[in-house]
Amino acid sequence: MKLQAAWATDVGRVRGGNEDSLLIDEALGVFAVADGMGGHRGGEVASSTAVEAVRVSLAKGEPIDRAIRSANAAIRERASGDPEVTGMGTTFTAVVTLDDANLLIGHVGDSRAYVLRAGELRKLTQDHSLVEDLVRAGRITPDQAEVHPQRSIITRALGIEPDVEVDLYTVPVGNRDRILICSDGLTDMVSERDVARIAGDTASPESAANALIAAANNAGGNDNITVVVLDVDDVGDIAGFIDHVAALDEPAMVAPPLANPGAATASIKRPFLRVPVRTTARFALAFIPVVLIIAIGFFVVQRRATHTWFVSNDAGEVVIQRGVPGGIWGFDPEIVERTGLKVGTLTEGDRELVQDGYCEQSSIEAARNCVAVLESRRLPVEPTVPIPSTSVTTTTTPQPTSQPRTTSSTATTQP
Ligand code: MG
Repeated sequence: MKLQAAWATDVGRVRGGNEDSLLIDEALGVFAVADGMGGHRGGEVASSTAVEAVRVSLAKGEPIDRAIRSANAAIRERASGDPEVTGMGTTFTAVVTLDDANLLIGHVGDSRAYVLRAGELRKLTQDHSLVEDLVRAGRITPDQAEVHPQRSIITRALGIEPDVEVDLYTVPVGNRDRILICSDGLTDMVSERDVARIAGDTASPESAANALIAAANNAGGNDNITVVVLDVDDVGDIAGFIDHVAALDEPAMVAPPLANPGAATASIKRPFLRVPVRTTARFALAFIPVVLIIAIGFFVVQRRATHTWFVSNDAGEVVIQRGVPGGIWGFDPEIVERTGLKVGTLTEGDRELVQDGYCEQSSIEAARNCVAVLESRRLPVEPTVPIPSTSVTTTTTPQPTSQPRTTSSTATTQP
């Protein structure tokens, strides 16, 4: 697989400094965007610390999820020694090459990865944000989420908790696919429809990156903007087994996040279609790892269903259930603890969150912490507008700036 990469980052039109960081290392085959947050220098320090830690881990041969978890530790370590940056955090969305036909994404926060394929833009990552939780719970529509006043509140970031869950996505790619990685400075300002149009109308990755930055600035440039564009070419043989057009009709390619820290486990979700006769023997050989991967996938799902706890509503009482909200592959969740906390006493936002189950955790103790958080931010009298106290927000006081500073570059890699 060949990736032609271009990237650009810009302070925008409102912020005083750029707290986004980029990781571009073609030798390691990694491309990432980190969007830092935290007062004073915090955001910039958090995102650049994360980038450096991930680079070092990958260079040691560690898988991307472990590398991102070590970035989490590095930020916390850095913050503990410096009161000026205490509480800093960052998003992290990284694309690495998995093999000759697949990319692997490691993701925490609300930066995003997309694929533009045959003119259609698909989001590959799920935001860890309050509005995404509300959309998934069916409380608001995706359109309402795009303009929601609390859309910058994120529910997961590096540097906040001692351990962080990293979402992994396996993405089979084809020739002429264009991958985008971006911070919310792009997607908050430019609609996905316009991102698709601009990314589709531009020939080179470099012109795409620059045009996207310009579009965000033309729309107001309220935040730092960072874009990585990767054009995919020379995809290897494995891709011949996968119908990329069919893949477009399916939901996002989501590997279940691992409940337990461990090695990166890829899962395959594409049916093998249109296998040429001549490749039957190769297919048979390829089938062995597929069976293994499906078995591992089943194990991961089964483990997730029995090692996940979440908070929900049962008959007006906050309860802790084991399993995955809504069940998964026949594993239905069961109530393991009643808390005595009445749902009616929660803030409006929290009532919506617990309605369909939220705060999935890998231990019952962590789920109890979620209940404690709900209890702590309960309003004593009348519920008003909910602002979760444990969430991290990217909102800062806008400061005027003289000139947008833009840097961009291009290069080609052959992993
Ligand atoms: Mg941002």
